[in-house]
Amino acid sequence: MIRIEGGCHCGNIRYDVEWPAPLASMTARMCGCSFCIKHGGAWTSHRDATVRAEILDAALVSKYRFGTETADFFVCSRCGGVPLVTCSIAGNDYAVVNANSFEGVDVASLARAPASFEGESTAARLERRARHWIPRVQVRALAGTSSMSNSYAGRDRP
Ligand SMILES: [Zn+2]
Repeated sequence: MIRIEGGCHCGNIRYDVEWPAPLASMTARMCGCSFCIKHGGAWTSHRDATVRAEILDAALVSKYRFGTETADFFVCSRCGGVPLVTCSIAGNDYAVVNANSFEGVDVASLARAPASFEGESTAARLERRARHWIPRVQVRALAGTSSMSNSYAGRDRP
């Protein structure tokens, strides 16, 4: 088990991940949707991992939804970083973390693979996330109130 720390650029959103495999076996999925390209999304997850996130000021975090509106992208409204995405499925929270937000890791050396989820039905998408995303997720806000999810009914489907 290795421990990876990460967060947004200004440190408002921080997390640590307990990862059950060597870093060399990790692959970051370079999602081709326009949101992920614009925000440097390089998503990774492991079904035996655990993630704990801590938000210093929740008032400075925007949970952004688009496409199927089933996932919350945690966008820091101070620095613009997107370190984490969560999705609630049948009462359990699942997450992926952005490998570009890792700290203390040679991010450039991580394996990356293109990913496209276009055309996937919402049901298939949730089923895939329940199988592959991190199933143990804790998000704790130390201060502030979490903003409502802001939605955009665009064409891209993450
Ligand atoms: Zn930030």
